[in-house]
Amino acid sequence: MSRVVYVNGQWRPFRSAVVHVEDRGYQFADGVYEVCEVRGGRLVDERRHTDRLVRSLSELRIPLPLPLSALSVVLHEAVRRNRVRDGLVYLQVTRGVARRDHGFPPPGTRPSLVVSAKRIDPAGGEAAARAGIAVVTVPETRWARVDIKAIALLPNVLAKQAAREQGAREAWFVDRDGFVTEGASSNAWIVTDQGELVTRPVGPDILRGISREVVKTVAAAEGLTLVERPFTVDEALAAREAFVTAASQIVMPVVRIDGQPVAGGTPGPVAARLRAAFHAHAEFS
Ligand code: PLP
Repeated sequence: MSRVVYVNGQWRPFRSAVVHVEDRGYQFADGVYEVCEVRGGRLVDERRHTDRLVRSLSELRIPLPLPLSALSVVLHEAVRRNRVRDGLVYLQVTRGVARRDHGFPPPGTRPSLVVSAKRIDPAGGEAAARAGIAVVTVPETRWARVDIKAIALLPNVLAKQAAREQGAREAWFVDRDGFVTEGASSNAWIVTDQGELVTRPVGPDILRGISREVVKTVAAAEGLTLVERPFTVDEALAAREAFVTAASQIVMPVVRIDGQPVAGGTPGPVAARLRAAFHAHAEFS
């Protein structure tokens, strides 16, 4: 069976799944998105993802395109129709199609909803987690509300490309004071010499990662001490371990930063423990 994509109420073949050129997402990046892990044919932490979606939409005053119960049916249908056992579901909502004009479109303009699902072989992620990944650092150049999961991702795109060009998998944004904010598509963590887990507190300057929330629960269950405070790149280089979290990465060890090894350049036991225990603390639906 070939891939299908949900576009505004209809299931379309992947190749002809299109939105209008005057969609506000295309014109202004005026929309939000979510990415949810699929594992064993089930959605991981759907409720938390839809809660965050509702918050992102409400911050931007975009109406919810469907009641949450109907949205849940579409998400599960995307998994089922595309026969995804392990992979990701992608959901995007924009302010809809309207004559190009920066201000909001007329009341009643229907938001656009696109939902797709794709398979990903979990072996790739497992191999990456065994080896660890490299990150590079880039100056923080994003807007002041990155807690909203907006589709406007140009700085993230450029950061990711900079990482790729330097043979790395992720880029860490560094603020003016030298503190890491987060990755281009992940939250950033270290394990200090004292064995404390450190990650930046939530606020307008990072995305409140769902995996970050789950890892907090895992850490508490594993008896690890968590300190929510910013950390610098030098601290990360001197740390016992570093790692990133995201729905697409789960817990991914970082073994190099800007070409320099972290913790001898090999993944550490804390990240491995958190990764192994992660799904026992996630919600499946
Ligand atoms: N930070 C950014 C900028 C992201 O794009 C993502 C995920 O895409 C995350 C953090 C991690 O969020 P989550 O754990 O909800 O996937």
